[in-house]
Amino acid sequence: MIDSRNWPDILWREWHHTQDEAYAKQLHFALSKDNIGQPDPADTIQGRPLLSEVEAALRQGLRQSASLRKVWSGRLERLDRAKDEYLSVGQAVRDLSHVHWFRRFLGRHLLFEIGGHAVEVLEDVAYNGSSYGQEDARWVLYCISIDTTARLAAEPDRWVCPDCWVGCEQLWIDRPWRSDWQFYGCRNCRRSRELLHRSQEMVVLLDNRSSGLSYNDGLIRANWFTRRALFDFDHIEITQATDEEVERFVVQVGNDTDPWRRSRYPQMRCTIGADCQLSTNTIRILHSRFGWVEQTTL
Ligand SMILES: [Zn+2]
Repeated sequence: MIDSRNWPDILWREWHHTQDEAYAKQLHFALSKDNIGQPDPADTIQGRPLLSEVEAALRQGLRQSASLRKVWSGRLERLDRAKDEYLSVGQAVRDLSHVHWFRRFLGRHLLFEIGGHAVEVLEDVAYNGSSYGQEDARWVLYCISIDTTARLAAEPDRWVCPDCWVGCEQLWIDRPWRSDWQFYGCRNCRRSRELLHRSQEMVVLLDNRSSGLSYNDGLIRANWFTRRALFDFDHIEITQATDEEVERFVVQVGNDTDPWRRSRYPQMRCTIGADCQLSTNTIRILHSRFGWVEQTTL
């Protein structure tokens, strides 16, 4: 936790541990000009602060130190603008080996912001690339591991990717000669930011008059007709669909190879709306896949 007192310690630790000499010089310049604290000999024991801690400490420092404002306020505005724009993994990775220290800083912090989507490219730079950017790539990977574990590990399947409509799981950062680091992200695309948190069940809706996904009070209802492909759900709600459409959905479920979902189908509840007229055969097929099938009455 960064507060009004410990931000200088965080920045001094960053100064102590960074391998980037030009960046260390900038930190030293801003911190020593206002005589803000002193480097603590315990720095070496505490280790390097995480990228998120450095960013929070810089923001706290802007409120309290004129010299820090002078060096960092425009630069943090630039970081914020870059975060609001399209985040390009390729550009951010190239920035890691840029000649200017601030572009290297931007590269590190933007890749951390991108999170799980950047892991594959970072692994390549960290363990297969040239020496440029290797150290930074490893550090960003470590920070992604710590950050996603802290945010998502307690209930990974409750964090749903808005692109894939699939929950998160434990994934691995491949370190060829050492034990792998874990991180958490979408089971399908590894996304680890701006996920939807569901506190209630996730419903697959079969309604051929509409499409899309709604998210209210932790309840996600996603219409199968949007993509006609499977995603995570705990409950099936058929409000309007033909026999053929329902059968196609059930065939997909039968052929599903996703282990997380496969084990859940036999316990799932399927509700058929009172207005939806399905044949006895279609209802029999639904019974063969899901635990409970019930038709609501008017
Ligand atoms: Zn995804």
